[in-house]
Order: sequence, then structure tokens, then C-alpha cells
Amino acid sequence: RSFSQYGLSDKVAKALSSLQYNHPTEVQSKVLPIALEERDVVVKSQTGSGKTASFGIPLCELVNWEENKPQALVLTPTRELAAQVKEDITNIGRFKRIKAAAVYGKSPFAKQKVELKQKTHIVVGTPGRVLDHIEKETLALEKIRYLVIDEADEMLNMGFIDQVEAIIQHLPSERVTMLFSATLPEDIEELSRKYMKKPVDVEI
Ligand code: AMP
Repeated sequence: RSFSQYGLSDKVAKALSSLQYNHPTEVQSKVLPIALEERDVVVKSQTGSGKTASFGIPLCELVNWEENKPQALVLTPTRELAAQVKEDITNIGRFKRIKAAAVYGKSPFAKQKVELKQKTHIVVGTPGRVLDHIEKETLALEKIRYLVIDEADEMLNMGFIDQVEAIIQHLPSERVTMLFSATLPEDIEELSRKYMKKPVDVEI
């Protein structure tokens, strides 16, 4: 298998070669075709499987460079993961000049506010701080077309599920939602039933 079968743009394909991502991992080969068709997907998989790129590649491919307001929102349970996902997306989107911003707690709000005012294609953040930016109207949501809920079960364990739900309620309903989780407890299944449209189930 190679990445060439997915019809990726030259810019994204070039970034994958420069990262030495020569072959898709299992989760990538299963998720890429679904995400590139802009269908909702629930993915049961562990970290370390290459799941970040399985949503990072489609997001970089699908966002429109010309648009200045954020088009994709990625929610993560921790600051560290948010920073890592931002870095991975920046690398994948390098030749397309994709701008990703990370917003998380215990880091100056004002600095993030300035960053969010610049051209930003993809916002990655922890639920509390994302909600903060939404409530203070420093994060524009009207152009969001993609939502990724990463490590959903961790989000649940850390007590963030109500914040995740509150964020979803602010988003345009016409969007693609991708949910990643190592386990699928009932609360996560419920979230998927409530907010996703006929998601394809992928299990690794
Ligand atoms: P993740 O599960 O997203 O944390 O990814 C685990 C590690 O695999 C990261 O260091 C990635 O840079 C790397 N990785 C992701 N996709 C590929 C790929 N297709 N080929 C080689 N390495 C990859």
C-alpha cells in the first residue's frame, strides 16, 4: 500500500514523503478513504497507531487555504496532546502553508486570542480553554466544517464530556465529525448517536 492511491494533492503528498511516511498505517488506510469522502467516522484505536495523521492528512487536504477563519476544530484531553497534534498538522500541511493554532489552559489567554485573530485553518485545543474562547468570542466558529474528538474516552475520564457537548452545540450542524477513542463506553456511544450523522465504524 502507498499514499498515492488516495488522490492526495501534490503538496500534502510531498509533506508525507518528507516526513518519511511512505506507507499508511492500518488506521490510516481505513480512515483516509472515509474522511476524504467527508463522512462521519467513529474510530476505535490506540495511540501510537498513527491516528493523528489519519485525521491530520484529510484535514490538511480538505481545508481551503483562502479562507481566513478556522475550518476545523480538534479537541484533545491534554495540553501536551494538543501541542503534539498542532505540530503534526503543521508538518503535514507545511507545503500547503496550513496554519494550525493550539489553545489550552495554563497558557496566556491573550496570546492565544492574538493568534486566533490571524489566519488560522485548524484549531486544536482542550475543551475548557476552547469553551472560554467561544464564550469570549475570540474563536470564530461559523466556518467550522470539521470536528475531531480525539481520545474521547480520556475526555470522559477527565470529566470534560459536558464541555465537549457544550462546544458541539455552538458548531455549525453541517459538518463532518470524526471521533477517536481507545474504548467506547456508553457515554461516548451516546455522544456519537446524538451528534454524528450515520458514522462509519472503524476498529483497529
Ligand atoms: P500517533 O499514533 O498519531 O501518535 O503516531 C505515532 C507515531 O507514528 C508518530 O511518531 C508519527 O509521526 C508516526 N507515523 C504516523 N503515521 C506514519 C506513517 N504512515 N509512516 C511512518 N510513521 C508514521
